[in-house]
Amino acid sequence: MLRLSGKSLKEILRSSHISSIPQSLRILLACVSSYETTIVEGNIVKPCKTNMQIRTERKVGRTGVMLVGLGGNNGSTCVAGAIANKLGLTWETKEGTQKANYWGSLIMASTIKLGNDCCGNSVYTPMSNMLPLLKPEDIVWGGWDINGCNLGDAVKRAKVLDYDLQSKLYPYMKEIKPLPSIYFPDFIAANQGDRADNILTGTKQEQMEQIRNDIRDFKANNRLDKVILLWTANTERFSAVEEGVNDTAENLLSSIEMGEAEVSASTVFAVASILEGSTFINGSPQNTFVPGVIELARQKKVFIAGDDFKSGQTRMKTVMVDFLVSAGIKPVSIVSYNHLGNNDGKNLSAPSQFRSKEISKSNVVDDMVASNRILFEEDEQPDHVVVIKYVPCVGDSKRALDEYTSEIFMGGKNTIVMHNTCEDSLLATPIIYDLVILGELCERVTVKKEGEAEWESFHPVLSLLSYMLKAPLVPHGAPVVNALFTQRCAIVNFMRACLGLAPDNHMTLEHRFE
Ligand code: NAD
Repeated sequence: MLRLSGKSLKEILRSSHISSIPQSLRILLACVSSYETTIVEGNIVKPCKTNMQIRTERKVGRTGVMLVGLGGNNGSTCVAGAIANKLGLTWETKEGTQKANYWGSLIMASTIKLGNDCCGNSVYTPMSNMLPLLKPEDIVWGGWDINGCNLGDAVKRAKVLDYDLQSKLYPYMKEIKPLPSIYFPDFIAANQGDRADNILTGTKQEQMEQIRNDIRDFKANNRLDKVILLWTANTERFSAVEEGVNDTAENLLSSIEMGEAEVSASTVFAVASILEGSTFINGSPQNTFVPGVIELARQKKVFIAGDDFKSGQTRMKTVMVDFLVSAGIKPVSIVSYNHLGNNDGKNLSAPSQFRSKEISKSNVVDDMVASNRILFEEDEQPDHVVVIKYVPCVGDSKRALDEYTSEIFMGGKNTIVMHNTCEDSLLATPIIYDLVILGELCERVTVKKEGEAEWESFHPVLSLLSYMLKAPLVPHGAPVVNALFTQRCAIVNFMRACLGLAPDNHMTLEHRFE
């Protein structure tokens, strides 16, 4: 039994415990969890229960994160935010003094309901308190960029953070310089060419070997236990998936060796990362994870997760459409219009890079629509249009205008219009922290089902990270879940299961009877 005593949950967990399984010193928890599902076969509905043990390694370990696109708006803001929090920086704005925080990070700034106290009041704890987790300020940050600007100047160029904060951070960031990166001009917009002054040369194979060396050096020089890679570089065009080129792990590796043109920079990074045993997360919309990458990740048992940060408009969409459909209201048209003026917007103004974003944004309501056959016929979809325009004047402060038209009771129509203005990189950065923190946690969790001898890790395609991703990659045959609160529930209940706690079922029956 877990006993609350006014201490932090971590302290409680250290003292009390749940486990009947012999523990080595490195294991935090080995608890028995009962996983209950419902199987529907024709007209028969069967409750199904699997007992399993879940182990979570206690030691987080020294972790490095290498960002591809380190000098971009997200990359530089991400490192800046971690440093500002580590140093507890404050700075002056026209509104007064502001201090560093992690708002917008699910893990660092949201809470989980643990249960009720003896008076029936809900008791919440920070999500970051549930299990030993990586903290952004403890991460050793590094990475690559095709542009050589140091991070102090990159923060200034991004114009995301307040001026006073930029100045306070400058001394800590000016010495951080991105490593030279892989630049295949055919994959990103031509308008990025003048940025590319920090690039690797040599064959595709040689460039991949250099990236592998960089990962190894970074790990050794910083005495790290593990390194995670995350792509937050420019959106690439989609690569063609071709038989013999990138359809299998073997073909992909030999394509890199042969210098095959259709292998993108992000795919080369993913392959290098997998070969070095480092989790690879893709924050952009392109199809980095061609079938050959997925097969390689499975062969090497290394985690991959993607695609495309779910930061603003899509996040709202996966709440709004879930609300409408689950309320029995039929959305018939969703029209999304954006304009932004940062370098991401400039890159997306080219048709094939915009197409990658359009694809990533297009399927985000499918699961919600398919869940309600009262409202929607098989294969029926709302009209869904996405427009993105580059307007330099607004910089990183992206505008998103959305119109949702729905059919309601007795032929009525309901139109909801939203206008969202927000610094894009201030939405994306906390999501980068969450992806890395959760990805790292997944590396430390193993599960053993009742009756089985082996402890199993997560599937290499880490779908648990879907909350943070616009077009979640899932294991072959697994359903894609886009609905935001369903995705959040998966994370919360997974953390509860790691502690041997039942999922929160929100029934609160204890308050519903006399
Ligand atoms: P940015 O243009 O400011 O930064 C991208 C950086 O990547 C640049 O510094 C560029 O020089 C660098 N780069 C390009 N190709 C590279 C390569 N091959 N190797 C290394 N570096 C390379 O863009 P951003 O606003 O930081 O966004 C980054 C990515 O995140 C974009 O693809 C964007 O679509 C995606 N994304 C952003 C958000 C958000 O900011 N809210 C949401 C979802 C997805």
